[in-house]
Amino acid sequence: MSARVLDGADVANQIRSEVGPAIAAFTARAGRPPGLGIVLVGDDPASEIYVRNKLKSAAGAGLRADLERLPATARLAELLEAVERLNRSDAHDGILVQSPLPPAMGVDAERRVFDLIRPDKDVDGFHPTNVGHLVQNRAPLPACTPSGVIELLERSHVPIAGARAVVIGRSDIVGKPLAILLLHRHATVTICHSRTTDLAGAAAGADILVSAIGRPGFVTRSFVKPGATVVDVGMTQIDDRATVERLFPPGSKRREVFERRGALVVGDVHPDVAEIAGALSPVPGGVGPLTIAMLLKNTLTAAQLRAGGTG
Ligand code: NAP
Repeated sequence: MSARVLDGADVANQIRSEVGPAIAAFTARAGRPPGLGIVLVGDDPASEIYVRNKLKSAAGAGLRADLERLPATARLAELLEAVERLNRSDAHDGILVQSPLPPAMGVDAERRVFDLIRPDKDVDGFHPTNVGHLVQNRAPLPACTPSGVIELLERSHVPIAGARAVVIGRSDIVGKPLAILLLHRHATVTICHSRTTDLAGAAAGADILVSAIGRPGFVTRSFVKPGATVVDVGMTQIDDRATVERLFPPGSKRREVFERRGALVVGDVHPDVAEIAGALSPVPGGVGPLTIAMLLKNTLTAAQLRAGGTG
């Protein structure tokens, strides 16, 4: 048996095709497109790729998208000033500061940045006000990756109400908000993390299993109930041959890509899981495109709300 593929690129296209006309309508009414301001600090290669994709998708959807770059040596104060400028800007409805920040900025840098972004421009949904709204099931700007996972499940007709859902990972940006969104849709939710005992046993009870930890191939067959839906949020760039050989058989497409590029982006879920799961989201092409589609949607929503309603 081979699992049904949960095609994130296809679902993201559906969302983009719905958001596109609404962006055009807003632009015609407001005399300007919804605007997104992105701040990128340093030159982390993965962040460069994510930001490039976000800018390209935003421009393709008719949004205004501006990038402000700060050097890896920038002080936290400079970053906070950049956020303040975007907070004041009339042209920018959404603000995104790309994670991770350089460690030299300090352990609480991300929290200070997220706390400073105006809640009504917080298109990542990380501000405490928006997190509170999410918990109360009234978030206008839900965190992009978790809401993307929900879109993927719902539009792929995976029943959530009544399902046993297990989320591996408890970060503020993926695991926790996703668990809450699943709970609001009436799943019975278990959250697992690095201190969970018998994680494989907990996971094997899931009808819906989501992994968001960033450990290549961590979720093996023994974690998965036959027929379960498995969503792989993990994205890790690997360049060591041993890991590639552990995960992918000789002659497979992924090995070919590795030979060509010298690196590969892989998920948390071992490829063998496709033989036992009922449905599985791939990496790449699963949750990644949805994160970007939800960012476009949140930027439109922020613009509409700032314009005083449906914009
Ligand atoms: P994070 O902040 O580093 O959190 C990782 C979580 O995984 C933590 O809760 C940690 O547990 C848990 N964990 C780590 N190792 C574990 C282990 N061996 N067993 C059980 N739990 C373990 O990461 P994140 O920002 O949530 O991102 C997670 C993954 O999703 C990464 O690969 C990231 O690249 C990917 N991601 C993808 C997208 C997308 O668009 N597809 C978006 C965002 C993130 P503790 O809390 O106990 O330490």
